[in-house]
Amino acid sequence: MTTISDNLQQVHHRIERACALAQRPVTEVTLLAVSKTFNREAVRAALAAGQRAFGENYVQEGLDKIAALADRRGELEWHLIGPLQSNKTRVVAEAFDWVQSVDRLKIAERLSAQRPAHLPPLNVCLQVNISGEASKSGVAPAEASALAHAVAALPRLRLRGLMAIPEPEGELDAQRAAHRALRALYDALRAEGLALDTLSAGMSADLEAAVMEGSTMVRVGTAIFGLRPRASI
Ligand SMILES: *Cc1c(COP(=O)(O)O)cnc(C)c1O
Repeated sequence: MTTISDNLQQVHHRIERACALAQRPVTEVTLLAVSKTFNREAVRAALAAGQRAFGENYVQEGLDKIAALADRRGELEWHLIGPLQSNKTRVVAEAFDWVQSVDRLKIAERLSAQRPAHLPPLNVCLQVNISGEASKSGVAPAEASALAHAVAALPRLRLRGLMAIPEPEGELDAQRAAHRALRALYDALRAEGLALDTLSAGMSADLEAAVMEGSTMVRVGTAIFGLRPRASI
């Protein structure tokens, strides 16, 4: 039987191999454990195995887990990676360390205004619809620059970079093409003077492709915690 600790070790090996292929130092890539649909005990097991950063998709589920693990709050870093509606921005600004799914200025403005003064600025990434899918959330690549400059100017946010969920592709080359497009956008924004340090890309099925194309944060759920119930994403 495999455990969360074994799975984490496997994922770290995959990241190490991809970094070696890409001739990148392994310290450039952070592992975000996507704990959505898994309970607090699963998070505690990962924490015991040394994992510190966790991603949640659903606001209420994330808030419940943050509260359930309040005793370990100082060691944990909580990322919201799912869609955020404007009526939920206050609780998110109060509880999370990162929001990776910002794709509208209105949401960013609310998060900045509502981030409590005693906390450091909220880390944010812009979610980019890199595959151009009509159903996906995320800012269109052509609009990312304008949004990034506007978000970077907000006082209580720290714009860290870009996040994307490319359309699933089976072949490594096709996976790499989508990640390469995201990386090109990231490089272009940095060339415009934005101090970005985070390219959040790569999941259980495509983390190698993402790391080879420059990802600095892979978001991995299934390969750590196992299969989710079919109804959830
Ligand atoms: C669920 C999810 C992941 C993790 O996906 P896996 O395929 O289980 O690794 C990563 N990013 C986002 C935004 C997700 O919703």
